Amino acid sequence: MIVKQIWTANNYRNFNYLIACAETGEALAVDPLDHEKCANAAKAAGWKITQILNTHEHRDHTGGNGPLVQKTGAKILAHKNAKERIPDMSRGLSAGDVIKVGRTVELEALDTPGHTMSHVCLLSHTDQPALFCGDTLFNAGAGNCHNGGHPAELYKTFSEQLAKLPESTLIYPGHDYIENNLRFTLSREPDNKRAQEMLDRLKGQDLDKAFVSTLAVEREVNTFFRLTSPSVIAKIREAFPDLPEKPDQRTVFLKLRELRNSW
Ligand SMILES: [Zn+2]
Repeated sequence: MIVKQIWTANNYRNFNYLIACAETGEALAVDPLDHEKCANAAKAAGWKITQILNTHEHRDHTGGNGPLVQKTGAKILAHKNAKERIPDMSRGLSAGDVIKVGRTVELEALDTPGHTMSHVCLLSHTDQPALFCGDTLFNAGAGNCHNGGHPAELYKTFSEQLAKLPESTLIYPGHDYIENNLRFTLSREPDNKRAQEMLDRLKGQDLDKAFVSTLAVEREVNTFFRLTSPSVIAKIREAFPDLPEKPDQRTVFLKLRELRNSW
């Protein structure tokens, strides 16, 4: 499996991806909003885009489908419940479905509601797994729930699915928000040295060669995985004085999601 991360340099800060089979050169494009960059990158590598995967139905993820299908004839895959909102879907995905790319690549669909209720992440079947997580998990952050989402569902997705993936899992999110998110982490947990070190190192990084994190890194710097950290809890209780001394993890997650909205 070859992964090419494509920085769109647009205002929404989208990352698009190509996932290719090294043997056949067939490729799947993830959320190819910048269809031209995706098509050019495939051409330069000698790949043929045969499938498009939309992690969810938002326009900044599906907006490149039409032109890319015209150019390549690729089939569109997305969550089975997104059929009404994503035109010309060929395949609706359920949890556990496997997507093959060429001869060598297998990607498993995870049903990951929260950002929207018809959101999938892809998990590669490789020695070191890779997670293409759309707007569910970001580097040092979590997706918002403003447009068709649900914070309690997002918490369930984090705690019951993402947190259980192998520590070595590579994280490929749908947007670059790492600087802002690390600043949010530090606002909630000022003594998080790893987050400070990462912010110093990655501020203004070249996004054409963006840092790729792992689940192990996210556990250190992503507040939404740090629900039992004493400083995170102390800060949450400053903002919400009615909370008990030891709030449960779900409560901490939901309060963090709320604070992040107005931050
Ligand atoms: Zn979205």
